[in-house]
Amino acid sequence: MTTHDVEIAIIGAGFSGLGAAIKLIQEGVDDFVVLDRGRDFGGTWRDNVYPGAACDVPSHLYSYSFALNPQWSRSYSHQPEIHRYINAVADEHGVAGHTLFGTEVTHAEWDEDTHRWNLRYTRDGEQHTMTARNLVGAVGPLCEPNLPDIDGIDEFGGTIVHSARWDTDYDFAGKRVAVIGTGASAIQIVPQLGRVVGHMDVYQRTAPWIIPRNERPYLGVENWAFKHVPGLQAAIRGGIYTFNEAVAAGMTYAPKALKPVEALCRANIFRGIRDPELRKAVTPAFAVGCKRILKSNDWYPTLDRDNVDLVTSGIDRITPTGIVTADGTVRDVDVIVVATGFHVTDSPVFDTIVGAAGESLAQVWDREGMAAYKGAFVHGFPNMMLLIGPSTGLGHTSMVYMIESQLNYLVDYIRTVRDRGLARVDVSKSAQDAFNTDVQHSLRRSVWVTGGCASWYQDHNGNITVLWPGFTFVFRNQTRRFDIAAYDVAVADESDTTESVTGKPVGIDA
Ligand code: NAP
Repeated sequence: MTTHDVEIAIIGAGFSGLGAAIKLIQEGVDDFVVLDRGRDFGGTWRDNVYPGAACDVPSHLYSYSFALNPQWSRSYSHQPEIHRYINAVADEHGVAGHTLFGTEVTHAEWDEDTHRWNLRYTRDGEQHTMTARNLVGAVGPLCEPNLPDIDGIDEFGGTIVHSARWDTDYDFAGKRVAVIGTGASAIQIVPQLGRVVGHMDVYQRTAPWIIPRNERPYLGVENWAFKHVPGLQAAIRGGIYTFNEAVAAGMTYAPKALKPVEALCRANIFRGIRDPELRKAVTPAFAVGCKRILKSNDWYPTLDRDNVDLVTSGIDRITPTGIVTADGTVRDVDVIVVATGFHVTDSPVFDTIVGAAGESLAQVWDREGMAAYKGAFVHGFPNMMLLIGPSTGLGHTSMVYMIESQLNYLVDYIRTVRDRGLARVDVSKSAQDAFNTDVQHSLRRSVWVTGGCASWYQDHNGNITVLWPGFTFVFRNQTRRFDIAAYDVAVADESDTTESVTGKPVGIDA
């Protein structure tokens, strides 16, 4: 077992963890480490390798502002290209030298005596420990797959594949397939499988609203222009951003203004499906925007294929050979694809982080509801900043924009801690509560509250704790500077100035 002490430990090497590492390097901070259980950078864009995996935010906006990519091959990028982009950015900034892959953090606990986070992690089957003066939680909300709790699922004798843990060796050709779920992942998987499987049953609990996806490959001349015409890419990015912010205004303040979007979705159904009964079955019964608005041109035509059935009767149980629905129908299959999303508000990661009062994040959030200050700091968890924490999610534009806002806040936090010699920084309960009261106030007329749907944006109390309501530039303004007045702080004394024990953790070249 090895022990180390670092100034900052970042858990997660996806878009947010990598962005944090780059910003720290640019700030001249060297004493930090990134810990990730995977084998390279990318997080959710490394793990989601299901067929058809792609982004539904246009390529020019779904990238770091400090690493624009003029070489995007399509107007919407697919997973392999985004994964390559993230790793290229990591290479360019030399982040690998700060990163421990194949490393799973199993426990992180605040130590009030040393003013440090005590971390336990496993690497190559061995247990290690580390202490960190600051902890950055960059695991993202979409990292822990949610397996549906359906009677009999453990007894199924065939293969079960979750969308986020795809079995790339499994050959779906000619197979009888069940897909459970009709969310953002399923609508990308199903059209790909529909072309190769023998038969596919798609189990829909709630029909989603889906607009057409205006994806196309970029011409060589366009890529040339993105690279050589000054300001062109930034202007396109700005245009996409502005359009999306208009959608945010509708979702937050005037859901009725989204009627034209609903009309687009209805036209998409009409164009994609001939059968009137099937059209009715796929038409949602809630306001557009209440759940994520999906983008696809081939979802409806796939449901209309002869080898595909949409099943709308609820799932009663799973048998060793197939699925039984509430109407008593038995459908035998070889493989079940579960595209049932992630543990967002109940992530097991929350159990592993223990704050100053000896309670885990899960315990505190179970009792009080999921909440943080500016989606980042949680009262009672000193010196810990979450990236894409509560109230930072979006239904309409690029999460990378929110991540970069939080990175400004992180860098200014570290600057403040260093300049003032702070050993302990804990957001005050009153500041956190006031922030969340404002968020809930902004949400009250929004489509997520009034739209008549259940979604993963809600915690177990039914409150929308995942989403940022309104304009993202408001969040950018609120996170420009670390506002120390919202925090209870303690200055370092002699006992806090302990030198690093060994400098850098195991596996990182000194
Ligand atoms: P999701 O949106 O949470 O969808 C899960 C689906 O599974 C829903 O249709 C849900 O039905 C269904 N489901 C869950 N439990 C079920 C059960 N026990 N029985 C039957 N059906 C069940 O998950 P996702 O599709 O993986 O997407 C999650 C998020 O990932 C998205 O919202 C998005 O933020 C992100 N994502 C983004 C992209 C992109 O293009 N950028 C692509 C994929 C994913 P209900 O609707 O009735 O709950």
